[in-house]
Amino acid sequence: MTQKIHSVCVIGGGSAGTMAVLRTVLNNDDCLFFPGSPKNKKRSRAMWVKKVENMPSHLQYKRGIEEPNAETLKWILESDFKDKLTLNKNTGVTSLKKENGVFHITDSKNNLHFAKFVILCTGVMDVQPEIQGSIEKVFDFANAQTIDYCLICDGHHSLNKDVSVIGHSNGAAWVSIMLSERYAPKSMHILTNGKTPEFESDTKRLIEIYGIRVVESPIESINGEDKGHILKSFTLQDKTQVKTDLCFISLGMIIYNELAKEAGADLDERGFVKTTDSGETNIPGLYVAGDLRANAKKQIYTAWDHAVSAANAINMKLRASRRPI
Ligand SMILES: Cc1cc2nc3c(=O)[nH]c(=O)nc-3n(C[C@H](O)[C@H](O)[C@H](O)COP(=O)(O)OP(=O)(O)OC[C@H]3O[C@@H](n4cnc5c(N)ncnc54)[C@H](O)[C@@H]3O)c2cc1C
Repeated sequence: MTQKIHSVCVIGGGSAGTMAVLRTVLNNDDCLFFPGSPKNKKRSRAMWVKKVENMPSHLQYKRGIEEPNAETLKWILESDFKDKLTLNKNTGVTSLKKENGVFHITDSKNNLHFAKFVILCTGVMDVQPEIQGSIEKVFDFANAQTIDYCLICDGHHSLNKDVSVIGHSNGAAWVSIMLSERYAPKSMHILTNGKTPEFESDTKRLIEIYGIRVVESPIESINGEDKGHILKSFTLQDKTQVKTDLCFISLGMIIYNELAKEAGADLDERGFVKTTDSGETNIPGLYVAGDLRANAKKQIYTAWDHAVSAANAINMKLRASRRPI
């Protein structure tokens, strides 16, 4: 028996992937879906997002991506469109290749699948600081959102706070400048955690003008209470105490572009996947949505918009291929 060739395969079950699945089945197209293995999920931003305050209608969720996504999948699986979705729960994709005009998709359970179109939504992850050789020290605080990563999402938490930014790049310095200009926090420190600052001269001048203190000694400990819900200070190896009740980490991103690379997609100089406006890569039929896509805001609503553009562009091609004239 020859194996089915699905119309669309969605890889990744975060913001972009779930919207791509929803739009694909609402377009009445058949959709093969891999939300990711437990390991993929644990390493995804979707898992780390708690309360989402910068979008309407999200405040009731304690986990602002996982909970609404689960509701959406449940609805699809109870709807008239349920037969359009083949959900491979807790399964990731380990290989993606296009051969003879069809995508060959190997999953984490070593099964091979086929699809005409793919929407790749594997996302990115923020780099964590090493404190005494381990990244685990930040986890409680990150889970409690006293350590944040995303300016557009959580920058507003800086109001009336003692804020620190961990990072040493010019970009990290700009995070501290932007937060200072926008929210005038009580104090602002940049903790380079033992690294030499890479700030440009204009950036250095603004740091000076705004009274931002740059400290280079490595971080020895993070001090807080209540499983990270209260952040109090950082102790540095030179024994300086930096009073902090909110921290941003600005160390760059790990980009989950392995499948895109294997399929032959073009990347930009940082490793994000280059696409057209509808999200198509240089590999015909391979679309990318969400944080993985180059030149885009890294936000839930942008991921949704990408996913809808990709699913609609694919639907247009599928309809055209079936049209009688
Ligand atoms: C702490 C934090 C707070 C944030 N808060 C907000 C906010 O308040 N508002 C906002 O708009 N944005 C927020 N963001 C940004 C938001 O999380 C991202 O923009 C959004 O999650 C991007 O969606 P995505 O689908 O591209 O990636 P993700 O949502 O991270 O999803 C990636 C998916 O890919 C899957 N995956 C990875 N590899 C594979 C594989 N090989 N096979 C199959 N599946 C795979 C994972 O399991 C996961 O399901 C926040 C980010 C962080 C880190």
